[in-house]
Amino acid sequence: MTDCIFCKIVKGEIPASKVYEDDAILAFDDIHPMAPVHVILITKEHIATLMDVDKNHTDVMGRLIAAAQKVAQIKKVAAGGFRAVVNCNSDGGQVVFHLHMHLLGGRKLEDQLG
Ligand code: 5GP
Ligand code: ZN
Repeated sequence: MTDCIFCKIVKGEIPASKVYEDDAILAFDDIHPMAPVHVILITKEHIATLMDVDKNHTDVMGRLIAAAQKVAQIKKVAAGGFRAVVNCNSDGGQVVFHLHMHLLGGRKLEDQLG
């Protein structure tokens, strides 16, 4: 996707503060952090939303979870705890239509999700 912000980050066309990277997943600090730790994890493959995930993505979705565990360790929030969120479509608050997980932590998060 040529006009996708997150695809441009994957290609190095937009700078990002990288936290973790492997051949399938890229993680970087959110540009507008909502918590002391706020990392965005994306699939390098352009998948628009959670609803576009299909059986061909089983491996990459597992890789996304494994990367989230690594990011939690890198950011030292694994033991204390964190929240992992995927917004989907308009009512879910999705703004960037490239599948991503928010990993939030570093403070006690609110009980309410939305
Ligand atoms: P969404 O609402 O789509 O789930 O979240 C998109 C997130 O991406 C937002 O938290 C927003 O701050 C972040 N974001 C949008 N554009 C950029 C960017 O160019 N760089 C970085 N690092 N984060 C971005
Ligand atoms: Zn994209």
